[in-house]
Amino acid sequence: MPVVSVAVPVPLPQLFDYLAEDATAADVGRCVRVPFGRGEKSGLILALPEAAGIDPARLKPVIHIQRNVPSLPPDWMALVEFTARYYHAPPGEAVALALPPGLLQAKPARAWLAACAIEPRERHHTCALPTLTAGQADVLAACRAAQAGFVPWLLAGVTGSGKTEIYLRLAADTLAAGGQVLMLVPEIALTPQLEERVRTRFPAACIVSLHSELATGARARGFRQALDGQADIVLGTRLAVFTPLPRLGLILIDEEHDASYKQQEGIRYSARDLAVWRAHQRNVPVILGSATPSLESWRHAQNGHYRLLRLPARALSSTLPAVRIIDTRRCRLDEGISPPLHEAIAARLERGEQSLIFLNRRGYAPVLACLACGWVSRCPHCSANRVVHLADKRLRCHHCGADSPIPRACPVCSNQDIQPFGRGTQRVETRLAELFPAARVLRIDRDAARTPARRESLLASIAAGEANILVGTQMMAKGHDFPRLTLVGVLGADASLHAADFRAPERLFQQLMQVGGRAGRAELPGEVLIQTEYPAHPLYHCLIRHDFDAFARMELDQRLAANFPPFSRQAILRADAPELAAAVDFLRRAKGETIPLAASKVRLFDPVPMRVTRLARRERAQLLIEADQRTALQDFLTRWLERIHALNAPRELRWQIDVDPLEV
Ligand code: ADP
Ligand code: ZN
Ligand code: ZN
Repeated sequence: MPVVSVAVPVPLPQLFDYLAEDATAADVGRCVRVPFGRGEKSGLILALPEAAGIDPARLKPVIHIQRNVPSLPPDWMALVEFTARYYHAPPGEAVALALPPGLLQAKPARAWLAACAIEPRERHHTCALPTLTAGQADVLAACRAAQAGFVPWLLAGVTGSGKTEIYLRLAADTLAAGGQVLMLVPEIALTPQLEERVRTRFPAACIVSLHSELATGARARGFRQALDGQADIVLGTRLAVFTPLPRLGLILIDEEHDASYKQQEGIRYSARDLAVWRAHQRNVPVILGSATPSLESWRHAQNGHYRLLRLPARALSSTLPAVRIIDTRRCRLDEGISPPLHEAIAARLERGEQSLIFLNRRGYAPVLACLACGWVSRCPHCSANRVVHLADKRLRCHHCGADSPIPRACPVCSNQDIQPFGRGTQRVETRLAELFPAARVLRIDRDAARTPARRESLLASIAAGEANILVGTQMMAKGHDFPRLTLVGVLGADASLHAADFRAPERLFQQLMQVGGRAGRAELPGEVLIQTEYPAHPLYHCLIRHDFDAFARMELDQRLAANFPPFSRQAILRADAPELAAAVDFLRRAKGETIPLAASKVRLFDPVPMRVTRLARRERAQLLIEADQRTALQDFLTRWLERIHALNAPRELRWQIDVDPLEV
């Protein structure tokens, strides 16, 4: 009797074999209901092995194979298997990650079962195309002249240089040739804007947008439309990388450097890296676009793995914004705002232009403290302070979310004079409203834009010119295009100059280039004012000159000297438990397991507590693994994790592996 190997979404590294009387090769890639433990589970048939791993007499039969939906294609399963292998995740969990929620259920979503009706569409389009700039024309010509098949391109184009126009032209080529386009964007908040642009450009195309805020039914429907080959363009955030695309012809990755392409929980995959793998697998071109490429991609371009395309000038306005440094050691700040910044905002108000004040810290103040006894508003569950949120009168932990009312007096000594220290967006917003009573000040951060609807209405009111001064976190930095915005003021950037994470300067540079890129995108010239106590810092000097190349050279030199990525490969084994000792002890045992492996090409560091050691009542520690070569790291991890699975971790301990971690 035929045997099927099933990926079942459980945290175990193997497939499970079952008997299936009538199974054929056509059932590979189908959902299946199987007995599991004392209950039942749904899984995906990954293979029809010649012989079972164990004695067939001990195998149980499947309950039901779902044959009324198409099976997932082999290339999709290869992608999922690669994801499981590369990120060392259980195959069943990789399947559950890659399928829209609800598909692996006894009663799958109706949207999935019903073949989708498509309305007939007009196949011609009428929209007028902008004349390409010389730079855009060169870039397009280079892409079009390349041989067919897999080519990874790195499109490094300054903000506003018209990278999106390149994406759209290449997408048009692919659609005309009968191919499907996969377009990845980092932020859900950016999908509506881009979707609008894509729909206007391709009114006749079937465009599916996929992200985690979609209702389950809509996501399943989009997935199905892509699988059936009906969708022409799939536009989405990182999870869209798992969309089955039988006619795939092109992959576009916008803002390729963005950290949100990397999932930070569960299976810690990088959608950007998987997308490049997929382009290779399917032998199609992939374009990675950014104004500030990740140093990993930049290095690939330097050593010829990727082909570099450049757009050094803006498409519309003739110049990039002027960047000026304000030395805050020489002036008195008013709630963080220096006199030159104050003047610059006033000048914008007079001219009817918008200003954006960028501060990457939410809330009113990062901590509430008692000067009499030294009490601070620590989170009882985390090694972090609770942040003062004056707008809703709460103290809130940004790590675990725990919150409580703001006390009137010190909870320890009853002193009435407790004070918020430091500054977040709410505090700056409040002060700006006082300083400029005639202006409308609008704050945009995760608190102000808690729901998608509120976010949309905030963005709409900015676009409609209803706000004069915007105060925002990095949420504001990305993508948005506001024609009347001509001033960007940056507060509190210095903190990242001295952060412990070796990627902090890279992130800061990217953020400041991006947020600065919001200034003067249309005809009006833009200006960026950066307040700092380190006016001579080389990072700021690269910013003044808009010199990404110089910054990348400087950073890569330092990374090379320290043997950090991209010159080495990393993974992190993390463990968390109610007691720190348990987490550290587990990592120590794990490290002990490597000695017999004699992994000379792999370096293991000592277990250390994580920077935010305590999170939501759990103590966390980590162990860094480093290798010069990707294959050496992967070979080691495969053998090592087998042993770690066998280690018998204490019940209350959890551990995870993070391959190519972004935060170390
Ligand atoms: P990027 O993605 O590189 O930041 P965009 O593609 O958003 O830049 O382009 C910036 C602005 O320039 C947009 O308003 C876009 O419509 C406009 N634009 C891009 N290319 C052209 C062109 N060839 N002619 C006129 N306007 C253009
Ligand atoms: Zn006190
Ligand atoms: Zn907390």
